[in-house]
Amino acid sequence: MGPHDPACLFCKIVAGQVPASKVFETDFAVAFLDIDPVNLGHVLLVPKEHHATLADLPDDLAARLGSLVPRLARSVQAATGADGLNLIVNNGVVAGQTVHHSHWHLIPRFEEDAVRWPWPHVAYEGDGLAGMRDRIALGLQGG
Ligand code: 5GP
Ligand code: ZN
Repeated sequence: MGPHDPACLFCKIVAGQVPASKVFETDFAVAFLDIDPVNLGHVLLVPKEHHATLADLPDDLAARLGSLVPRLARSVQAATGADGLNLIVNNGVVAGQTVHHSHWHLIPRFEEDAVRWPWPHVAYEGDGLAGMRDRIALGLQGG
């Protein structure tokens, strides 16, 4: 078994120690209904291993989780009659993460729902855009 935190809510759900309305399970992931949905049919896709944030996920586990998303999205949209869907990962407290076992939200969207996009935007100033590109690109060199 991979990383596990006995105090973690989603580890408990994965282990069956806390009940959840599971819609799908593989050897490495489980998907279940969010208990406090943004819209009805809001699903959480959760790796069975405990990794606190998206950035902590091993590449192959992230790839395998991602491989489940299109099928889950089709099923959520078919079941809810949604017009669209948001895939969201809250990564860190400042981004709204409250359960520190990385998970992916699939939120069905409807024409008249209360959710609002786009978020507020900011602008680059001076050579800020080029500098930002360079810093991110540099960080990606060599993995
Ligand atoms: P986060 O804010 O960390 O991105 O998302 C955590 C999500 O977990 C929230 O949307 C919240 O409603 C959901 N959640 C919290 N506790 C439980 C629970 O006990 N069961 C289920 N099914 N979802 C939960
Ligand atoms: Zn956990």
